Amino acid sequence: MGDKEKLISDESLEATRNVAKKETFIKLPWYFAGGFLVFWALLFFAIVIPFFYRLPTPLTMEDSNKSVFITERAYNNLYTLANIGNKLTGSTENEIQAVNFILNELESIKSVLLTDYFELEYEVSQASGGFAYSTMLNTYQGVQNVVAKLSPKNSTSVTYLLINSHFDSKPYTNSAGDAGFMIVVMLEVLRVIATTKQTIEHPIVFLFNGAEEGMMQASHGFVTQHRWAPLCKTVINLDAGGSGGRDILFQTGPNHPWLVKHYKESIKHPFATTMGEEIFQSGIMPSDTDFRQFNLFGNIPGLDMAQCINGYVYHTKYDLIDVIPRGAFQNTGDNILSLVRNLANATELYDIEAHKTGHAVFFDFLGIYFFHYSEATGIYLNYGVAGATLILIFVSIWRMSSVSKVSICHVIRWFILVFVIQIISFALALALPTVIAYVMDSSGLAMTYYSTPLLVVGLYVCPSLVGLSVPTTIYYSLQRNDKLPNPYHLQLALHSQAILLAVLAAGVTYLGYRSAYIFVIPLIFYVASLTLNLLTTLHDRGYSWSGLLKASQIAPFLYSSYVIYIFIVVLTPMGGRAGNISIRDLYIAVLAAVGTILCFGFLVPLINSFRRPSFVIFALLAASAISLYLASSTQLGFPYRPKTSGQRVQYLQVRNMFYEYDGTLSKDESGYLFSYQDRRGASPFKGTKVNLTGLVGIADRCETHMMCGMPLYDYRFYQNRLTLQWLPRSEPIVPPSDFHFELLNKTSVNSTTMRYWFETQGSNHMSIFLQTYEDAKITGWSFLESYLTNTQPYHVYLTHGIDARPFNFTVDIWKSDGDFDVPAFQLGCSDHRVQDPGDAEAVKFASTFPSFSILAQWPVLYKRYIF
Ligand SMILES: [Zn+2]
Repeated sequence: MGDKEKLISDESLEATRNVAKKETFIKLPWYFAGGFLVFWALLFFAIVIPFFYRLPTPLTMEDSNKSVFITERAYNNLYTLANIGNKLTGSTENEIQAVNFILNELESIKSVLLTDYFELEYEVSQASGGFAYSTMLNTYQGVQNVVAKLSPKNSTSVTYLLINSHFDSKPYTNSAGDAGFMIVVMLEVLRVIATTKQTIEHPIVFLFNGAEEGMMQASHGFVTQHRWAPLCKTVINLDAGGSGGRDILFQTGPNHPWLVKHYKESIKHPFATTMGEEIFQSGIMPSDTDFRQFNLFGNIPGLDMAQCINGYVYHTKYDLIDVIPRGAFQNTGDNILSLVRNLANATELYDIEAHKTGHAVFFDFLGIYFFHYSEATGIYLNYGVAGATLILIFVSIWRMSSVSKVSICHVIRWFILVFVIQIISFALALALPTVIAYVMDSSGLAMTYYSTPLLVVGLYVCPSLVGLSVPTTIYYSLQRNDKLPNPYHLQLALHSQAILLAVLAAGVTYLGYRSAYIFVIPLIFYVASLTLNLLTTLHDRGYSWSGLLKASQIAPFLYSSYVIYIFIVVLTPMGGRAGNISIRDLYIAVLAAVGTILCFGFLVPLINSFRRPSFVIFALLAASAISLYLASSTQLGFPYRPKTSGQRVQYLQVRNMFYEYDGTLSKDESGYLFSYQDRRGASPFKGTKVNLTGLVGIADRCETHMMCGMPLYDYRFYQNRLTLQWLPRSEPIVPPSDFHFELLNKTSVNSTTMRYWFETQGSNHMSIFLQTYEDAKITGWSFLESYLTNTQPYHVYLTHGIDARPFNFTVDIWKSDGDFDVPAFQLGCSDHRVQDPGDAEAVKFASTFPSFSILAQWPVLYKRYIF
């Protein structure tokens, strides 16, 4: 510190001391403290929210000669595509009508193609194959892709750009947003490029895939089998986890930072966050996209983008065109058009491997500006800022000691005390919202904010602010220290907050997370204001330093509240389909608390620069209490609303038929198998017309039966098997007449191995479950062999697209004694008629559910055999 000491002469120190003495640290009246917090709340509501939802003006046909993306055309296309209705893989709507719609559009684009510049070829391709996914083997037959390639005239280039989305639907939805929206965006982007006199370097492959919703089969088919796939060097994957709003870039690379550079160069309306990428890849989002398939099976890096707001309608019958604002088409259209053009000219495509140089850190600021840098730069930056924080704080403490003539050890002692108090504030700011979430959840009041997101402010943000402010406020009201003036004490509290953030930034960086940048942003601005305050000696003039500090925190406040808001908007509707076990309130409470600490950490201690800061705390407590009351005792806190944010209730109408080794039917039951998609489960139906008497768990069956003796054909059903519930019904479900399962033959491979030949045919979605008895082993089969290393029971999920021929398969069973005259294995076959609303009794039962519930129901025939 010797050098620094010399910088300030004794004279100037003496002058500063005099100023410090003269200013008796005038505190502003108490209502300024309230106004102070209201100011920051206003910043959020008047700036962050409008920017978050800001969309460009949609363009109409009047602009169609300008070589720009025309919303009107895309909108009209989506109207046609969505009106086809539900497009389940294997249905006529998907395999014929939707495919023909896309082919017609491609034909019309070809008719206006600039043939001096481009060539356009397209085809419908079929694929069959299989891959392991989670606990199951996904096997498919004849799923369809419409593939179009736009090449520069006479091009012999062997490096293509791929752009993908899917047109198929989940059951019971027209899937306008997921992902019809992206399909029509792709069509319009193709049309604009094909009709603009602006050449491209690399051919562009537009992949319109017809099987994503049943576990991403069509993209797997393309990437493993299509002749163009090995030439595709980069992919732009487009999908949806919601509907409308701005498209978010939520996954990149992996390990290809140049992609982010091109995103920045070209994108008109940036919206992206590294934190999203890290959260998505951690697996807490109950979703996956085709991006995975291109990466895993084709080693194709790229950009994964999606619609992310209004996840309430995702995969429901309310995913309709009317909930999508036209500005959203323009936003995504502008982005994809410029991104495709840019990447179609990117030189990196010639040698992708050479540009595999690590991860990138990236994020946008309010959709206005996009920042990105390499992970390595991020590491230096984070440690650098953390280090600078410590140095500057030391300089500040030294200044305090010289100005107020108190020994430095004394100041450090106070600092340690204030630091401990700040840690308590930090802990309380996290703990109070968490406790509220936990108590609400345990009292059966989960997800009260589901349809009223504003409640998050009262339920979690206000208590977090109380936690953040109480310890420091108590400390400042009690401490009487004549030697070190109050403004200095207050700065010590802010320094403590800075040290905590520095430790977090360094720790999170050390653990390898790029998201550490969210701690660094407020810190950089704090360090900057502290530097300026020290240089101008405002640091030593009463509360004069607080002006610069407040001004410097505006930008980080806007950013932190923006990024946390993104996650609350995305994760809240996801809680509606995260299953019965997951306590989603805790996620939201912790997010809100982290947001509060990031936004207000440097601001809340400043209420002590006003008179009677306790008034502010009482106001916050009152706001929390009112919100708790509204959430727990009024209709506002009821999570669901008809049509816009309903409760997802998924159930199957199951007919279980169990056959023994001798062929006798030992069990035949019909009932409804419930999978509650959220934390409230069946409780909202109490007191309604829904008769759930007789509802039982199936956990005990899991101990005695393969796959719990139920057709658990979705890997998530199996994961959540202990929360599934069974409601028997008296009237048996009539099995579909075209279902067929047969053991065709048994042939001996050698003295210890028998080959079983099977044939099955049914609807477009079926499953085979297999489990051997103790003395038998499966040594081979006609499905993907590598899956056999998984643990039993095996689950083969069968999907067919346009090719509805029977599935024929063989299974080789090995027994040491070669005795195949006793039971060797169990085999279950289920046929999921996902497109069928069910029989009269099921329809009547469904009609008893109240209007706030969104039903997904379909009949399943499950036959279990022993061979
Ligand atoms: Zn989708």
